[in-house]
Amino acid sequence: MTHSSPQKTIAIIGAGLSGLSCATKLQAQGFKVQVFEKSRGPSGRMSTRNGKDWTADHGAQYFTARDPLFIEELNNWINAGISAAWHPHIKVFENGQWHERASTEKRYVGIPAMNSPGKYLAENLPMHFNQTIDQIDRQDGQWVIHSLESGNINQQFDWLVLALPAVQTFTLSNLVDKSVEKADAQFKMMGCWTVIASFAEKLNMPFDAAFINDEIIGWICRNNSKPARQGLETWTIHANPQWSQQSIELEKEEAGKRLLECAKRLGLDCQNAQIFLHRWRYASGSIDAKPGFRAYQHLKLGLCGDWLHGGRVEGAWLSGYQLALQIKNE
Ligand SMILES: Cc1cc2nc3c(=O)[nH]c(=O)nc-3n(C[C@H](O)[C@H](O)[C@H](O)COP(=O)(O)OP(=O)(O)OC[C@H]3O[C@@H](n4cnc5c(N)ncnc54)[C@H](O)[C@@H]3O)c2cc1C
Repeated sequence: MTHSSPQKTIAIIGAGLSGLSCATKLQAQGFKVQVFEKSRGPSGRMSTRNGKDWTADHGAQYFTARDPLFIEELNNWINAGISAAWHPHIKVFENGQWHERASTEKRYVGIPAMNSPGKYLAENLPMHFNQTIDQIDRQDGQWVIHSLESGNINQQFDWLVLALPAVQTFTLSNLVDKSVEKADAQFKMMGCWTVIASFAEKLNMPFDAAFINDEIIGWICRNNSKPARQGLETWTIHANPQWSQQSIELEKEEAGKRLLECAKRLGLDCQNAQIFLHRWRYASGSIDAKPGFRAYQHLKLGLCGDWLHGGRVEGAWLSGYQLALQIKNE
């Protein structure tokens, strides 16, 4: 008679794309995973906001796919009907002038919304939403975790994966080992102020999306130009990372006022729009794809997230996937 060793258990904290990709791959490798997420749904910064008769992607706007592994994943998403190519008419505003954006870049979005790939991955995983993990500890070689909402989680884990932005990662990892932060303290993330403007009627703007240089706004996009979008005409405005970071503590009303003034100068008058404002404290980070992820075998602790892998959607997915390959079921 053969005795197979019991399946190893892994807690993944964070249900953004990196955590979901890591959990999916670990589950496929035979681990028993549990995913803990502080929000009420999956997807993290690939997020969609719903208002009265409108819906808008207010985090990641689109993504690209260059790595063969991510291209394969994207093809699965396209076949599953949760992602599609987006062909916007893009302009650039620079030195006070508008230009056409000549680009052959292939851009993709989730359909019907940016959070669709995250929802799709989460469907096949044991998810625990509304669970803010605020304490982690190692006891007798096992991980014990605690959530703000539920207290001690009634299970111990062989491995722990933190799939969080850098600052939130270090807040938790410092509870067990300060050297984890020291290795990666150089990774800083920048904030992003976001305005969503929803209009009763279609606007007559000469582009679907625009990159703005030399202004406090960095990006403007008509959500309804993306495939499978429904509802009122809605535009997303992102402030540029530098201004956002410098102004991250502004009162919401003041940040909104300055961004709407700038939008008006750029031809997007939001006077008659319903306005929604969001402050992302940790929006974007390093654009370097290294180190990719961290696997501390002696602690049985893994770190993944976009900040370790280029700061974008594709990097987040790859970071989680590559970390999962380093965790062995032995
Ligand atoms: C405004 C904005 C615009 C962007 N534009 C683009 C773009 O156009 N193209 C592109 O490719 N990328 C873009 N990005 C970046 C892209 O969204 C990210 O790279 C990617 O979504 C990050 O995934 P992640 O899993 O690493 O992190 P996240 O998506 O941040 O996931 C982390 C998750 O952890 C959860 N969490 C945090 N703390 C805890 C805790 N203590 N306990 C439990 N759960 C916790 C969070 O709620 C979140 O769901 C943009 C991001 C923002 C904010």
